[in-house]
Amino acid sequence: MNSWKHEPASRRAAILQKWHDLLVAHTEDLAGILTAEQGKPLTEARAEVAYGADYVRWFAGEALRIDGEILQAPSPDKRVIVLKQPVGLCAAITPWNFPIAMVTRKVAPALAAGCAMVVKPAPQTPFSCLAIAELALRAGLPSGLFSVVTGEASVIGPVLSTHPLVRKLSFTGSTKVGKLLIAQASGTVKKVTMELGGNAPFVVFEDADLEAAVTGLMVSKFRASGQTCICANRILVHESIRERFTNLLKHAVSELRVGPGTQESITQGPLIDRAALNKVEHLVSDAVAKGARVLLGGRPHPLGGTFYEPTILDGCTPAMELWHEEIFGPVVALYEFSTEEEAVAMANDTRVGLASYVYTSDMRRFWRVGEALEYGMVGVNTGAISNAAAPFGGIKESGYGREGSSHGIDDYLTLKYLCLGGIG
Ligand code: NAP
Repeated sequence: MNSWKHEPASRRAAILQKWHDLLVAHTEDLAGILTAEQGKPLTEARAEVAYGADYVRWFAGEALRIDGEILQAPSPDKRVIVLKQPVGLCAAITPWNFPIAMVTRKVAPALAAGCAMVVKPAPQTPFSCLAIAELALRAGLPSGLFSVVTGEASVIGPVLSTHPLVRKLSFTGSTKVGKLLIAQASGTVKKVTMELGGNAPFVVFEDADLEAAVTGLMVSKFRASGQTCICANRILVHESIRERFTNLLKHAVSELRVGPGTQESITQGPLIDRAALNKVEHLVSDAVAKGARVLLGGRPHPLGGTFYEPTILDGCTPAMELWHEEIFGPVVALYEFSTEEEAVAMANDTRVGLASYVYTSDMRRFWRVGEALEYGMVGVNTGAISNAAAPFGGIKESGYGREGSSHGIDDYLTLKYLCLGGIG
């Protein structure tokens, strides 16, 4: 690791760029592995390879821009110089829903900064991570800088979060596990980045382009069969457009094709495991028992396994469990509002604050609502907000730290200043 941090930035950048190129060149192989272990359709798997590779390309560029500063000194005989240095050995614990992208957006900035990284991937999806680590080696990354440890979280987690050699821990996963890791990491005062759960509101105002709103909702809600942290979870629709919006939505959802992700025509794969299926079944039956109407789906899919039918629930209310819980399945929960103030209050009625979405054609409303939403990210008239150029991350119990953008490298760097005296 010591020699890596002393490599010229241009060499670190060149290796990252080569890694990116290999990821792209192996898209078909990686997508095949991803679909086999995660279940998402091949088209989504290919898109994830491109999305994950993009973080590598982005941070190859950022490696070249880790610049310090010379500050104005308090007296003429002094100079204050600020250095940015790699934080040291980093560890990452990642989830199964984006087994490539959640890894690259941590490993790439760490390597760009001059750090080494140990990754514990989710047990459902270890092979994608191992495959991209092999490609990093083929790109010329010295061995030992990007290590993968597979196995029991109960054994590996405490080591990564408490070992004094690990100077930074980056976690993407549930808020429950994130809180535990924060507590464990506090013993050695590690730098910590937490990308935790969400509960995204998707607000459709009466002045919205409804067709665009339905298209955006389909993108946000049904990617990875509804199993992403930024999936629209609560769909808030103005009362005056509810019927038209719902009709358009029903048509779009009925076009989805459920089945094995390896078949090219499929748009919805299975849920990750039986526990995920049980959770979705529970949330839907709780909502129905409390008055929600099933407009489409509402059951496990006849294909069996962990497939679930694309579902629309109308007439949802905050009394239902899915108001506060991430559904993590292909279920649209529709709520109604009548004023802008009510919509904002409903949207903010949650302990987490990751992604949110607003559809409106009124620029004044865009500013008012965009500023009032208590979220790290607000998609305005789009359901696709995540890309390497943007600072991805949340507030409240969705965590802290940002991944992607020029800010995404900051968590892998520390600031040090040199105060020079006696200059005269
Ligand atoms: P999870 O149960 O928190 O697991 C995530 C990772 O943490 C897995 O590798 C898991 O390994 C590990 N883990 C579990 N318990 C641990 C412990 N005690 N110590 C150390 N590691 C431990 O989350 P998940 O259900 O797999 O993923 C879905 C969650 O991730 C959702 O809440 C979603 O919103 C969130 N997410 C957030 C983002 C974001 O960027 N904010 C992105 C994607 C997903 P084991 O399975 O072996 O326990």
